[in-house]
Amino acid sequence: MQTITGKTQLLGVIGHPISHSLSPVMHNAVLRHLDLDYRYVAFDIAPENLQMAIAGLGVSGVKGLNVTIPHKQAVMPLLTAMTETANQVGAVNTLWKGPNGWQGTNTDVEGFIAPLKALGHHWRRTMPVILGNGGAARAVVVGLAQLGCPEIAVVGRNLEKLADFHQSWQGSTLKSQVVIHPWGNLPTLLPHTQLLVNTTPLGMAPNADQSPVDEVLMGQVNKTAIAYDLIYTPRPTQFLKLAQRQGLKTIDGLEMLVQQGAAALKIWLEQEVPAEIMRQALLDHLEQA
Ligand code: NAP
Repeated sequence: MQTITGKTQLLGVIGHPISHSLSPVMHNAVLRHLDLDYRYVAFDIAPENLQMAIAGLGVSGVKGLNVTIPHKQAVMPLLTAMTETANQVGAVNTLWKGPNGWQGTNTDVEGFIAPLKALGHHWRRTMPVILGNGGAARAVVVGLAQLGCPEIAVVGRNLEKLADFHQSWQGSTLKSQVVIHPWGNLPTLLPHTQLLVNTTPLGMAPNADQSPVDEVLMGQVNKTAIAYDLIYTPRPTQFLKLAQRQGLKTIDGLEMLVQQGAAALKIWLEQEVPAEIMRQALLDHLEQA
């Protein structure tokens, strides 16, 4: 590992709280592997200090930043430019320096679709069903639109929030149609979907024994469908265990985490990065935890 010198460059992640973040583990592993004179650190920035922190980290020569909860939306007015993807999602997770200040994008979208693209399916004939309508669901919608899915069904439990979610896409440049459904519509949706995505936290600690759909509902899912859970620990989640029991193909959230990180690092370093080193660092870390 390179010694820290006056030339060492800094990357990092801002959030609050931030000590649980896995980003330093996977980014420092690949920076070490590439023998680059960089370090990646976590900055705990309280919401009231966001503006000051963004300005301060900007003039301190920090080369790039990831942004996580609760700053993904709040940071947007502090940027000088954003990609169309970030505008569509309505949130950013990656910042880099432009000529006049920080610019931003959302690599969660690229991270989410990476394992789907690898399957080489014809997504134009797919009607995905998304469970949940929070922040991650927005990146999933944009990703599925980028894959070419003409219609995306979003299922939520709170009808008011669901209506707001639907409204938020009106006037956006998204090329797909977002159709909202109450949870009770699942029995009619599941037999016709080829991709079921869990974006709820059900299945993650402290709800590790729960699944957003039970065994009966999972039994109604089209047998050729893919079940994709954004949760990356435990592996597999209860949702994916039920899907495996039905013989469905499954994808967990680890690859999304790896690929959103690799996409950010590629922007900062302006070079390809070996995602397998980041994946292995995460797996080793999660095994020890
Ligand atoms: P969020 O903004 O809080 O959204 C969570 C959504 O789940 C909301 O629509 C919420 O509905 C719904 N929900 C919560 N509990 C539910 C329940 N018991 N029944 C039905 N719906 C329920 O959270 P988020 O930021 O989108 O994150 C969601 C999950 O994605 C987390 O597990 C997170 O770890 C994971 N994630 C993974 C990655 C990755 O790289 N793999 C990236 C981002 C997120 P209400 O609004 O009604 O509460």
